[in-house]
Amino acid sequence: MKKEHVPAGSDVSAGIFECNKCGKQITTPSVSSLPPCPKCNNGDWKVISGVGDAKEDPYPYQKE
Ligand SMILES: [Zn+2]
Repeated sequence: MKKEHVPAGSDVSAGIFECNKCGKQITTPSVSSLPPCPKCNNGDWKVISGVGDAKEDPYPYQKE
């Protein structure tokens, strides 16, 4: 299942993500944190290709 909303800062694996605000697409080459959109500085991404955070662990920086 593709995730429609992945916040900037989430750990993601390699894939393609589309900005939910301006439609800018970025490619992440490997496991990394999603940056804010380089075009509009939005921090809400949609997964186009690849895998976002695990369903049970959507916000890795908000837990202990
Ligand atoms: Zn954008």
